[in-house]
Amino acid sequence: MQATVLYGPRDIRFEDRDAPTIMKPTDAVIRIAATCVCGSDLWPYRGINAVTAPTPMGHEYCGVVEEVGSAVKSIKPGQFVIGSFFASDNTCPHCHHGYQTSCQHKEFVGGAQAPLLRVPLADGTLVPTPDVPPDDMLPSLLATSDVLGTGWFAADAANVKSGMTVAVVGDGAVGLLGVLSAKQMGAGRIIAMSGHATRQKLAREFGATDVVTERGDEGVERIKEMTKGIGADAVLECVGTPQSMMQAIRSTRPGGAVGYVGVPHGVELDGEKLFYTHVHLHGGPAPVRRYLPKLIELVWSGKINPGKVFDLTLPLDQVAEGYRAMDERRAIKTLLRP
Ligand SMILES: [Zn+2]
Repeated sequence: MQATVLYGPRDIRFEDRDAPTIMKPTDAVIRIAATCVCGSDLWPYRGINAVTAPTPMGHEYCGVVEEVGSAVKSIKPGQFVIGSFFASDNTCPHCHHGYQTSCQHKEFVGGAQAPLLRVPLADGTLVPTPDVPPDDMLPSLLATSDVLGTGWFAADAANVKSGMTVAVVGDGAVGLLGVLSAKQMGAGRIIAMSGHATRQKLAREFGATDVVTERGDEGVERIKEMTKGIGADAVLECVGTPQSMMQAIRSTRPGGAVGYVGVPHGVELDGEKLFYTHVHLHGGPAPVRRYLPKLIELVWSGKINPGKVFDLTLPLDQVAEGYRAMDERRAIKTLLRP
């Protein structure tokens, strides 16, 4: 098969690789129906995370089960399934507490920007849809695999509840779906922080009631003005830079919470300053598996359409252009079809 491999900064190749096979009895191999480029793929693509060896790329996926190992009980060939970027057994204590991305047996799932993918711990990791979905539902189902699941976790970690005022830092695909998630959780007011017209428009479609274009000190100031000087009840941090993290913490009222899902790059917090903010912080790699059954149901019933974040669809063999378009911010998120 031909698949996506990153060799170094901005060096994406679509090249011959061995097709994946069952390596452990708990594995499945799935035929990818749709995959995509993640904002986090851009960190190594831009050389911010070092690429030390040619790396198969992609960790967002949905598709049809081709083959399962001898120990797989519940997942069957022919099922349409969705999984997340960490395989998890879904039976250990951390999984039981809903933190499958800290599973005692977790394994990263990589190489999804390909026609076929090996998924470890298939029974714990994969969630089947009620039936094989219609083609036009693929973008929204694919979104549940990571980008929606991550935005949902940001809102959940920020403890978003009915009637709350929520601010979202970051207008990438995760931030935009954080807006959608906060809306689903009943937020009364959702302030999207974005300086880009097309992203603001999508944020409003997903449920944003207000947009703040300022960043840093001015952004914090605007949130304070809009909340009678108090700050937001919940803030979703969906970027991962020192600036965005501080913007999130300082926009939150005492007793409020920040849910942070932007992978931190260079973020260092001053313990004493944090102490006096009275702000809750909770984040990490989103335990998407916890939310998958609910998110699939919301998509399947037509209640949400998170697939709108994909504003570029390309055949898989044009994956390099998919990366370039996101790197240059010409696209919010690129969907790839094998
Ligand atoms: Zn586990």
